[in-house]
Amino acid sequence: MRVRRSPLPERPEIHQLSLPLPKNWGGPDRVQAYLIEGDPLTLIDTGGRNAESRAVLEAILEEFGYGFADIERVIVTHAHRDHMGLVQSLRDAGAQLECLVHEADAETAERYTEVKRERLEEMIALFRENGVPEKKLDELQRDPLARRFVAEEESPATSVERRLRDGDRVAFKNYALRVHHSPGHTPGHILLEDEEHGLLWTGDQVMAQAIPNTENFYTQALPEPGDRLNRRPRFKGLVEMRRSLKRLRGQRFRRLLPGCGGIIDRPERAIRDILLFYDVRIQRIDRGLRHLAAMGQEVTAFELWQALFPQDESNDEMRTHLLTLIGALDCLEADGRVRVERRNSILTHSSSSRGRR
Ligand SMILES: [Zn+2]
Ligand SMILES: [Zn+2]
Repeated sequence: MRVRRSPLPERPEIHQLSLPLPKNWGGPDRVQAYLIEGDPLTLIDTGGRNAESRAVLEAILEEFGYGFADIERVIVTHAHRDHMGLVQSLRDAGAQLECLVHEADAETAERYTEVKRERLEEMIALFRENGVPEKKLDELQRDPLARRFVAEEESPATSVERRLRDGDRVAFKNYALRVHHSPGHTPGHILLEDEEHGLLWTGDQVMAQAIPNTENFYTQALPEPGDRLNRRPRFKGLVEMRRSLKRLRGQRFRRLLPGCGGIIDRPERAIRDILLFYDVRIQRIDRGLRHLAAMGQEVTAFELWQALFPQDESNDEMRTHLLTLIGALDCLEADGRVRVERRNSILTHSSSSRGRR
């Protein structure tokens, strides 16, 4: 079944739509969007820009008696192609819609392909600074999966009519959703709260049966003023993610409406599980660093990757794990548990935890 008609007795106008995603995108095979039969007629996320996703969305809307042209508003949880892919297609079909995106993701939404291409270049620069050899960098740059990532025909770029900020309200006739800025998975990820009923849309920030990844990229070309190692400023997704999730704890939401995996009826537990998953990884890296420190060694993130992920075979695995590792090192540095130095142009890390077991 593709539609969960009114899974929420408290708000019968909300419907969860499960949309297929292409296998070659290399992520989850489905994404959940939401139709809210309110005034205005609203979608939260849209699915990806590909024929199958489009056909399924069209068929589902038709079951409710709507066409693409009837959609009046799309609220985008974050600027990833599986969430905002069809906004422009709705417009092309005649929808006079307003697209709402957090201000920190708005540029990605409007210049999707260019931004992703820039990020790919910057990822290579980030890996270089973290000790990845030139030959490997070359291979990563030529990887077809990385290239497909920016395919023009699948680009979901669209104009943004309203740039959201934390605390904003998105109004329907009789109620409003509150916007929570929740960076981590992307810089401008938002959560939407129905305060009256304790519902929280969580996009990819909290999912059922999946751990969100976090973006990590340079935000400026020039070094951060005052950074003793002359490093460029970066969006540090894992540091942000942990902060965002910790803010959510103890807030007594009744149900989470995620971008993947159904509906979450035990919010506290889902949030705790993600934090725990990351804590375990960070501790593993901390232990590895302390072990090396005991032998008087400092290491690059690349050397750590070689030591901790010897089974990695594909470029995709390497990319994912290396980004996680750099994210974990960011967290350890933020907690004062790692010392970073620069040797020639490359960053090295050593443990600064003492006497901890
Ligand atoms: Zn995402
Ligand atoms: Zn997603």
